[in-house]
Amino acid sequence: MLSFEDARNKVIEVASAERRSPATETIALSPHVLLSAPNRILAIPVCADRDYPPFHRATRDGFAVRSADAQEPGSVLKLAGEIKAGDTFTGSLGTGQCIQIMTGAAVPPGADAVVMIEHTKVVQTKVTLERAATPGQNIVARGSEAKTGQTVLPPRTRLGYAELAIAAQVGQKALEVNVRPRVAILSTGDEVVSFDEIPGAFQIRNSNSAALAVQVSLAGGEAIVLGNARDQKDDLREKISEGLTAPILVLSGGVSMGKYDLVENVLRELGTEFYFDAVAIRPGKPAVFGKCGGTLVFGLPGNPVSTMVTFELFVAPAIDLLSGTDVRPLPFLSARLTASVKQKAALTHFLPARIEWLCDEATVQETSWQGSGDIMALAQANGYLVVRPDRLEMAAGEFAEALPRRGVF
Ligand code: AMP
Ligand code: MG
Repeated sequence: MLSFEDARNKVIEVASAERRSPATETIALSPHVLLSAPNRILAIPVCADRDYPPFHRATRDGFAVRSADAQEPGSVLKLAGEIKAGDTFTGSLGTGQCIQIMTGAAVPPGADAVVMIEHTKVVQTKVTLERAATPGQNIVARGSEAKTGQTVLPPRTRLGYAELAIAAQVGQKALEVNVRPRVAILSTGDEVVSFDEIPGAFQIRNSNSAALAVQVSLAGGEAIVLGNARDQKDDLREKISEGLTAPILVLSGGVSMGKYDLVENVLRELGTEFYFDAVAIRPGKPAVFGKCGGTLVFGLPGNPVSTMVTFELFVAPAIDLLSGTDVRPLPFLSARLTASVKQKAALTHFLPARIEWLCDEATVQETSWQGSGDIMALAQANGYLVVRPDRLEMAAGEFAEALPRRGVF
């Protein structure tokens, strides 16, 4: 049975080979629609419209000086004016002079250093510098962040708040981004009803399709929710065939050993090539990955926590690749256990857990839970405690791996 790392690498290998240049679309960057841009992948580079900073910028409130006039502490300079951020200053600085300057203002010609106001004494127009000044101090030189025309955001960049701030800074009115990969979502199970229906006494609402739609969206895909297929070959075949029109199909349920777990059979009949149908993890062991025609197919186990975990481990990297960018690493962190853990099965366990950051170190504690159907427990958890097969017992105080839960951490 594959380890989760090998299974994930298999997905990355197959999805990399399937990847084509995505179609692109334009999104406006007006203040109102900017919020549709996060998590999109840039298709065409963004370049600097001018030098950044556009002028030699003071980074402190203080006095612009010639450093040659302030080689020693105690130099006394004559105050010759004031420049605040946004001011246009036409003069220049003469020998023995200084100009009061504010953070964000343009350093006047002649000056090559800014002395912080905290290091000066001002008596009328006499400014005493308590420290020597060095050339360039407290100044960011024009063009030192980016030169006119320089690429500031290359293609394949994922747009986050810093990237969108750059697009705004350089005056971009619109951005060309990759069309998001469509991800069809199909749940299976005779007991499953839509979440807007009233379930019978022994039926359950379809929570997996809700979770998967949100996970797809957070991962950067476009979710297409197909509903639910009954545990019957005909219904499965019809709905799976519909899902196979998308580049990625994610199924939940029907991949275990039960008499009515027919998903793998139907996928095989439809010509699926399988790369794995079990992974050495808990929850999520029966996870299936294959390719049918040009569609990457994931058969995730139906227990809700299993579905959620296996999505993050295996489906998310495929969405990254089909989005036209690189796979994001799993954000493992090291955290101190606040209680001991003990697992028996020689698998990698992903246990719902609470990760905190108290003072100087992260801590992690398993949430009490009733197994992989218990999403109530997962809602108490902001991540997973990862227990490896070679370290199934860990004592309180030891460091363990933790995996934050996307969207809530
Ligand atoms: P399965 O993988 O089909 O054997 O299902 C495992 C467990 O997950 C069963 O208890 C199912 O009732 C439950 N389950 C399956 N599909 C869903 C779904 N779409 N939403 C919520 N629970 C589900
Ligand atoms: Mg089932």
